[in-house]
Amino acid sequence: MSGNIIYITGTQLLSLRKQPNIAIVDVRDDERNYDGHISGSLHFASHNFSESMPNLIHQVQGKDTLVFHCALSQVRGPSCARKLVNYLEESKVDAGIKNVMILERGFNGWEASGRPVCRCNNVPCKEGGSA
Ligand SMILES: [Zn+2]
Repeated sequence: MSGNIIYITGTQLLSLRKQPNIAIVDVRDDERNYDGHISGSLHFASHNFSESMPNLIHQVQGKDTLVFHCALSQVRGPSCARKLVNYLEESKVDAGIKNVMILERGFNGWEASGRPVCRCNNVPCKEGGSA
């Protein structure tokens, strides 16, 4: 993987998100519980992201593209994406992850644009995604 982190828009993600090679990684903290989430997204809270990275890598086996977001994708989303890229590079783990992306404007931008929001309580969310 190149180490570059690419930004994608909500419009792009809307058309890509049902692809089986994509995982959406929500790194918001408690807000996810009240504000809903993007269907099919995984949840790895930013406050203990470093500790949960191995579990994340395990859960995304078979996916080559990860799309990170937080509420606005300004602080937590980019910093967690960068942590993962650094971890993969330093540990030489071949997790099969080729692309690490960040959703522009985060969950708040996604919701404000009227895109579908799931309010289930399943962990991980079983709606949408590749189902
Ligand atoms: Zn859900």
